[in-house]
Amino acid sequence: MKVRVERKIDAAHFLPDYSGPCGRMHGHSWKIIVEIEGSVNPETGMVIDFRDVKRIIDELDHQLLNDFIEYPTAENLVRYLLDKLLDLRIHNPKIQEIKGILVRVYESEDCYVEESLEMHGGCDECGVYPLIHSATK
Ligand SMILES: [Zn+2]
Repeated sequence: MKVRVERKIDAAHFLPDYSGPCGRMHGHSWKIIVEIEGSVNPETGMVIDFRDVKRIIDELDHQLLNDFIEYPTAENLVRYLLDKLLDLRIHNPKIQEIKGILVRVYESEDCYVEESLEMHGGCDECGVYPLIHSATK
């Protein structure tokens, strides 16, 4: 089943040494979409708790993204969120099999970056999730 969380946050960023308006500190209203496909845990009746996904996103609300991400382009924000979601998967025994994760970040209404990862079971002991497909649009 597929779980989707759509969230809007306001956050500032700047890109050091970038010659353009994004080189200076400014804010965006970011729209973030997360899709997680996986099996429903019969004990919880959930693939993943919406709250766990929202928490990762909301942590960035009204923050300076440079405090979280070294060079906070929309692309690197996608990577940061993917990392956090993979981490959540590894450390939460309530989450069963995850088949895929998609993160889309809108920097503005008409510009977004997206990456999706498909994965098979991986190794629960070492926490390595072999990626069989990775696509960036
Ligand atoms: Zn910007």
